[in-house]
Amino acid sequence: KPVIVAIDGPSGTGKSSTSKAVAAQLGLSYLDTGAQYRAITWWMVTNGIDIEDPSAIAAVAGKPEIVSGTDPSNPTITVDGVDVSGPIRTQKVTSQVSAVSAVPEVRARITELQRSLATSAEIGIVVEGRDIGTTVLPDADLKIFLTASPEARAARRSGELQGADVHATREALIKRDAADSSRKTSPLAKADDAVEVDTTELTLQQVIECVVTLVEE
Ligand code: C5P
Repeated sequence: KPVIVAIDGPSGTGKSSTSKAVAAQLGLSYLDTGAQYRAITWWMVTNGIDIEDPSAIAAVAGKPEIVSGTDPSNPTITVDGVDVSGPIRTQKVTSQVSAVSAVPEVRARITELQRSLATSAEIGIVVEGRDIGTTVLPDADLKIFLTASPEARAARRSGELQGADVHATREALIKRDAADSSRKTSPLAKADDAVEVDTTELTLQQVIECVVTLVEE
């Protein structure tokens, strides 16, 4: 039976780097669910959909065709055949993604994609997100919830953004986590049976080793 690993947590905890490395080390597939929410948000923004209007978003939630590649060494994402791996990381998309992700029709659509990819993985898959252990794959073999102090998360994120202001990054990150944690449909949350790993004082290598050990147990 394929092994399913769910890795949830807020941004800046090292979720993506950890998930990719664990999948690569163990020969598993990898799915970045945040990239899927970013991709549908990119499509909404590009097509001039009013992000302030949940019913406008809901009405077109089924339109874009989103395809995720699940190779941890080359995780691709396309919308209607267009490679959007660059555009989904822009400030514009990052600032709108929480609003789009809060729309139940969007979540239903993306959750269905996630479940079908997870169940078709041959050896197994590492799925990273916000609601994987609680909602998308509640029967996952292992659930991890990564945390870190707001300072550590902001510092990591501004490092990634090369020279971005740490204070502004911290504010934006806290705002996005608050929105993700307070939405009604499948908010960012730790599953009761998830193992919580505080990464504040750990190096990326230590977090990877910790998760690999838990998968192998
Ligand atoms: O992980 P990343 O920061 O790329 O996720 C972008 C956004 O996508 C999150 O802030 C959240 O609004 C949304 N998301 C979600 N559920 C997931 C993964 C991401 O709502 N499982």
